[in-house]
Amino acid sequence: MIPMLDLKKEFLEIQDDVIGTVTEILKSTRYVLGPHVEEFEKQFAQFLTATETDGLRAMGVASGTGALFLSLASIPIKRGDEVITTPFTFFATVESILYMGARPVFVDIDDETLNIDVSKIEEKITEKTRAILPVHLFGLPCDMGGIMDIARKHNLAVIEDCAQSTGAQINGKRTGTFGDAGCFSFYPSKNLGCYGDGGAVVTKNDTMYDRILSLRNHGSRGNYMHHVVGFNSRLDEIQAGVLLIKLRRLDEKNRRRRENAKLYNSLLNDVLRCPAEPDGYVHSYHQYTIRSPHRDKIKETLSKEGISSVVYYPLPMHLQEALEGQGLKRGDLPVSEKAASEVLSLPVYPEMLQEDIKRVADIIRLCL
Ligand SMILES: *Cc1c(COP(=O)(O)O)cnc(C)c1O
Repeated sequence: MIPMLDLKKEFLEIQDDVIGTVTEILKSTRYVLGPHVEEFEKQFAQFLTATETDGLRAMGVASGTGALFLSLASIPIKRGDEVITTPFTFFATVESILYMGARPVFVDIDDETLNIDVSKIEEKITEKTRAILPVHLFGLPCDMGGIMDIARKHNLAVIEDCAQSTGAQINGKRTGTFGDAGCFSFYPSKNLGCYGDGGAVVTKNDTMYDRILSLRNHGSRGNYMHHVVGFNSRLDEIQAGVLLIKLRRLDEKNRRRRENAKLYNSLLNDVLRCPAEPDGYVHSYHQYTIRSPHRDKIKETLSKEGISSVVYYPLPMHLQEALEGQGLKRGDLPVSEKAASEVLSLPVYPEMLQEDIKRVADIIRLCL
């Protein structure tokens, strides 16, 4: 059996540290926000930036979705505004825009990278456009140089969805540090995962920082004075304690994902399309996603051999029932629609053995 992810193997490596930290937190009786959250915020900002004087600050929040909607609310994105994003993503990206009463405007993806096609953004900008929300899908950074140029030219905010790209880089700069805010998810299966829900927003913008700090905590700084209507989206101490332990190992874990991906590439690139990684980009391989017109057959064959694989994502956002009101139909975003019919994500988790990668590749080659 080869699973998509082996969280138990990872837990056993850090078990003593985790139990020590969690016990200490339980005894402290400080459970929501607190010293571990503050320390994690400090260390996470340091992890993302080369220099401490960079001015980037992090805030722990309740989830990646929380990070997204708090960032949008802090701009602020309001009812009737338009936010440009990709249709080929996890639903939460789009939900966060809809929570604001704003309209997601979808720009089709690039066929190679599966990320938003930067050359098609400008044609979708109207007088209602307020922000661009790029998603570093599967851990491959978007063309942030191109996106930031367009955003500056049209005076738009940029909120990066880094839920799948914690640690990924472009020319030595980590995702989340290009735009006005970077949004991270620490859902257990993400590259940096905790043992429940968790997330973070990072920003260099002092106004957005102050607003999010208050918005995550009922529009208050914790003194029962509420200057705006906020949300309950706070990180808890136990999750922050776990994240502090796991953050130390993240670069090494991502390095192993990349090694696994390299091995897959060498074994599969003559029979199907392997993930792109443009020069200067460091993919975090949250998912290792192949493309083949025979992906259903591959999936079925792997399954018979006890090997997991998953279709992320089978239906682009503009065709989801929840977005019917947007009036988009099949054929409107053809690159995304085709990708959705061909993608398949294979196990690539850091603890995976090289011999297992060879086995997965062998089975795929035999069935094609
Ligand atoms: C996981 C994910 C989210 C949401 O994160 P949660 O922590 O589950 O709320 C948002 N966007 C993308 C692309 C994701 O993969």
